[in-house]
Amino acid sequence: MIKRFEVKTTAAAQMIDITAQVKGLVRAQNMSAGMIVVYVPHTTCAVTINENADPDVKEDIIENLERLVPSGGRYKHSEGNSHAHIKASVIGSSVNIFVESSTLVLGTWQGIFLVEFDGPRQRSVLVKFLPD
Ligand code: ZN
Repeated sequence: MIKRFEVKTTAAAQMIDITAQVKGLVRAQNMSAGMIVVYVPHTTCAVTINENADPDVKEDIIENLERLVPSGGRYKHSEGNSHAHIKASVIGSSVNIFVESSTLVLGTWQGIFLVEFDGPRQRSVLVKFLPD
């Protein structure tokens, strides 16, 4: 079983907390235990788990990925968004999360983020349910 929701990004690069949407799908699915896979079917955005308490962490991640792979760098890909393809591959297109007692097993400071590198765009997030 795969469920999907849409996310509208509003900037060229940004991290959007999607934890609430994913938790909502798990609740709606009545899944008590197992694992879910959160996946983005895109080549210039990514999904990751990181701190959702201090918003500076999101800015530090975006800013330092930009320093490592500058959007104004020299690349062969004619579309002009090679930096976004590279950053998306560095972060990755999916995360796995345990489900126990009908809730996501996340650390106190952890949230699930869609990471946009070539926005603003409409993005899809797919969630695969793997019950025990
Ligand atoms: Zn491209």
